[in-house]
Amino acid sequence: MTKLIAGNWKMNGSLAANQALVQAMLEGLQGIEPKAEMALCAPSLYLAQMQSLLTGSAIAWGAQDVSAQEQGAFTGEISAAMLKDFACRYAIVGHSERRQYHAESDAAVASKAQRALAAGVTPIVCVGETLAERDANQTEAVVKRQLAAVIHAVAHCTSEIVVAYEPVWAIGTGKTATPEMAQAVHAVLRKQISAATQHPERVKILYGGSMNAANAASLLAQPDIDGGLIGGASLKAADFLQIVAAAQL
Ligand code: PEP
Repeated sequence: MTKLIAGNWKMNGSLAANQALVQAMLEGLQGIEPKAEMALCAPSLYLAQMQSLLTGSAIAWGAQDVSAQEQGAFTGEISAAMLKDFACRYAIVGHSERRQYHAESDAAVASKAQRALAAGVTPIVCVGETLAERDANQTEAVVKRQLAAVIHAVAHCTSEIVVAYEPVWAIGTGKTATPEMAQAVHAVLRKQISAATQHPERVKILYGGSMNAANAASLLAQPDIDGGLIGGASLKAADFLQIVAAAQL
């Protein structure tokens, strides 16, 4: 399946910095027929800018979160329909930073995924264990529980989600899961997805957690790793494009 390399800019950027970064990426892609799909998930305030910079290019754009509610009195929230208004293809849901700092439950993440799908936005559903959970041999149980909540909510639309396995201890820490460690969890997730949909081949399972230009090729070579969710390295055009190039191998 075509790999997907998605950048998560987190709370970084500015109008000027975004323009320079996107321009450098688009210049770097000139004359290249990228075999991987690409996306950049920007802070929501900049989605209009992303739309104007990226329309007609090979790079899709997305949000880093979406409301679990449809519309109405939810101050500060951004609905899936609003994301669709700005032609977002993706919305990250359940990133560990949202689960950790905003106490997002499995049920809330599942509702967000459901809202995104209902509006025609593909949710990138993040799952992953903390270091304490890995040390307690709970990795499999944790990621299965997190994914099960989403599968239960989206039911027959399971084949339309993207899953990202992001071990919490590997995010922004420089510690990457070895390709074998990541593959083992991806295989578990693949099996769970296969049991839940008649079209498991449509579901990409990305790896995220300190993926960079140096380690991308070995991670992306694993049979069940269908791409990457890239934090820090998506803020540097050259690094992001090297990861995209590694996804074409
Ligand atoms: C992320 O935030 O999804 C992520 C994987 O971050 P980093 O690549 O910086 O570890």
